[in-house]
Amino acid sequence: MIVLVLGAGQLAQMMALASKPLNIEVRAYDVGSERVIDPLSLNVNYGDLTENIKIADVITAEFEHINHDVLKMCEQSGKLFPSSQAIKTGGDRRLEKTLLEQVGVANAKYKIVANKTDFDAAIESLTLPLIMKSALAGYDGKGQWRLKSKSESEAIWQDIQQFIEGDTSGQPQAIVIEQMVPFDREVSMVGVRSQNGQTLAYPLTENHHNNGVLSISLANNQHQHQQLQHQATQAFDKIANKLNYVGVLAIEFFQVGETLLVNEIAPRVHNSGHWTQQGADTCQFENHIRAVCQLPLGSTELVRPSAMINILGTDVIPNSILSIPSMAIHWYGKSKRSGRKMGHINVCGKNKAELISRLNQLSEILPIADFPDVSDYVKSL
Ligand code: ATP
Ligand code: MG
Repeated sequence: MIVLVLGAGQLAQMMALASKPLNIEVRAYDVGSERVIDPLSLNVNYGDLTENIKIADVITAEFEHINHDVLKMCEQSGKLFPSSQAIKTGGDRRLEKTLLEQVGVANAKYKIVANKTDFDAAIESLTLPLIMKSALAGYDGKGQWRLKSKSESEAIWQDIQQFIEGDTSGQPQAIVIEQMVPFDREVSMVGVRSQNGQTLAYPLTENHHNNGVLSISLANNQHQHQQLQHQATQAFDKIANKLNYVGVLAIEFFQVGETLLVNEIAPRVHNSGHWTQQGADTCQFENHIRAVCQLPLGSTELVRPSAMINILGTDVIPNSILSIPSMAIHWYGKSKRSGRKMGHINVCGKNKAELISRLNQLSEILPIADFPDVSDYVKSL
């Protein structure tokens, strides 16, 4: 069986690794070179997209910002899962907000803005501080502005206007202006839905960001958070069912007191689900492949408390971390660039205390220059 993944980054790579034992071959469409390649070796060229759409049994995606003509071509083959509509919804904050309203899932108060008149009206009607996000093509905190006081609004509008004018996507760009949510913490739910509508969710994961980028995810035994898990599962089911979704879908939430508000949805395997490679019965990558290939879904049970730490902008870390038990390093084989996601570390423990103790050992070894926030976060646990 051959699965063609749209996108040839680390997510396609980890899908390939999880697929091999199932005797499923993953090929990846690199949107830059417009070639289909082996996501692991990167140097095997399988030819162009049209040819590979014919060869593939199933087509899926590792990211949501895919050219709409490509999505259309894949959908016409009848092999694309999730649907192009689901992928587009995750890639456009306007569609995302509309979906959340349709299914009645709580999210931050917002306005959609395409010109200066809308912009001024939005600032008047919402309560500051505000966060402004590009409707299309936003990821890792890019295409975002924060407005704390009205005096900054003219300067921010100049910046936004330039951004909108410089957009090359060929689709109408806009800005979603949201009220800043005074959250207690950020959590996410990664779940999977099969073609016959069965859904399974992993336990809620706590996410710690640094400069708008995910730094650490913590999946602990969630017995004390049953109510939150229930809320998140309900939101997951509503969203996934409405989209008639097939595959792994992630939902990022803000926790305010005992309430969850959706931040955004990602129609794909997600960075906050990488811990499942070592901490869950079936990892998110295998479950995504199982769902899109019509295989029975695997258990999403957490088998041991786990944490994931992103390796950002560096291609060396001390290998001595491997002497700590239950430690796994996953490099993506990418060339180094400042802030780039280069790999991640998964660490587990048989209980929370053991996990924290291992995280403490780890944070003593990791260089502070490359992992500036890890030590403080671990101390706060
Ligand atoms: P990523 O790709 O890393 O998920 P992104 O570019 O898609 O990021 P968001 O997830 O929308 O962007 O925002 C990045 C971070 O900014 C959030 O994780 C959160 O910390 C903060 N943030 C976003 N929206 C709000 C909000 N309405 N209130 C408070 N904080 C927010
Ligand atoms: Mg996000």
